[in-house]
Amino acid sequence: MTDVLIVGSGPTGLTLACELALGGASVRVIEERTAPHRESRGKGLWPSSLEVLEGLGVAEPLRAVGSSEVVLRKYFDGAHVNDTPMPGSGLLIGQWQIQEALRDRLAGLGVRVEYGSRLAGIAQDAAGVRAELADGTVIGARYLAGCDGGRSTTRKLLGIPFEGSGEEEPAMVIGDVRAPGLSRDFWHQWFTSEGGGILLCPMPGTDTFQLQAPPEQDERGGLLPPSLESFQRLFDRHARMPGIRLADATWLSAWRVNVRMATRIREGRVFLAGDAAHVHPIAGGLGMNTGIQDAAALSRTLAAALAGRAGQEVLDAYEAERLPVAAEVLADTSRRYERVMAAVRTPGRGTEAGLD
Ligand SMILES: Cc1cc2nc3c(=O)[nH]c(=O)nc-3n(C[C@H](O)[C@H](O)[C@H](O)COP(=O)(O)OP(=O)(O)OC[C@H]3O[C@@H](n4cnc5c(N)ncnc54)[C@H](O)[C@@H]3O)c2cc1C
Repeated sequence: MTDVLIVGSGPTGLTLACELALGGASVRVIEERTAPHRESRGKGLWPSSLEVLEGLGVAEPLRAVGSSEVVLRKYFDGAHVNDTPMPGSGLLIGQWQIQEALRDRLAGLGVRVEYGSRLAGIAQDAAGVRAELADGTVIGARYLAGCDGGRSTTRKLLGIPFEGSGEEEPAMVIGDVRAPGLSRDFWHQWFTSEGGGILLCPMPGTDTFQLQAPPEQDERGGLLPPSLESFQRLFDRHARMPGIRLADATWLSAWRVNVRMATRIREGRVFLAGDAAHVHPIAGGLGMNTGIQDAAALSRTLAAALAGRAGQEVLDAYEAERLPVAAEVLADTSRRYERVMAAVRTPGRGTEAGLD
């Protein structure tokens, strides 16, 4: 029987796995994907997360690739307005690179992510947890951590409500693209008086930009899905730089506003962490960062429990610490999102309004 079975190999699950393995626990990490992704997604580490990663010995390789001095170049109606430094002392780096560094560290500790393994069922008693995978395999563990993202199977299997609100329609299309000829010295942010805009952020250690924009509409007001062609039309309309042709979309996605959190994050020997426990607006860049902090807190609770101090208050410590944080992050990021939406109507303002 393994000490801890971790479901999901995103930044939350991998941070937790490294923390526990470094502390000497036996861990297994299962992942439904068949291979790692290379999507930029969460692209910023704040100092408190860097501190956690420092303790795991993965901050140095990330600092070597990431950028700590990011300049936001703002344009309005196609004209350059100003260049401003990104506030705060974070590190710009793609989420896939963070996950890669954590996976490498974990492999060095003798643990490899088990790809193509999807959690499908959970049973537990006083002695441990039995996790059933989609292929019928059963894994026994003393504890299970559901780090399986916003649509968390773990949370659904436990019947834990995910309370809050969500929008049906995407607020943004997102992707990773190349933009030959566009300067990589700036996070370009174009906004227009008609409303809307487009953002292209150069991702360190790659030749791609992360693109974010409100989706295109068809003649009846319906929203168009993300595609390279749609990205180019949005770029032509807002950036007005006819020489730039976007190319090689390696990731296409759509993002919906969801402000939800689990009503509890422990059920017996099973815990929830990261997006499985809370989802919220991306303004302020707090999603992955909050998941990394959840993982650090959960590793402390599990280390105490595995050391034989598994009294009720030890197991409850994680929820007592992190549930109020999740509630505050939901409220805080909702305010930040509103500030950004209001700020971008003013020439010279951009996503830094979410970091005030
Ligand atoms: C455009 C964009 C920008 C963002 N910017 C930022 C930012 O700047 N800063 C920030 O902190 N955050 C940011 N985020 C949010 C961040 O990406 C998420 O908060 C983060 O991915 C959450 O990590 P996680 O490990 O909890 O979940 P995920 O990364 O979702 O990982 C969950 C994993 O579980 C696996 N899984 C799911 N179900 C199962 C199952 N049944 N069995 C096995 N495996 C399963 C999934 O395949 C996945 O690999 C951004 C997100 C987007 C889309």
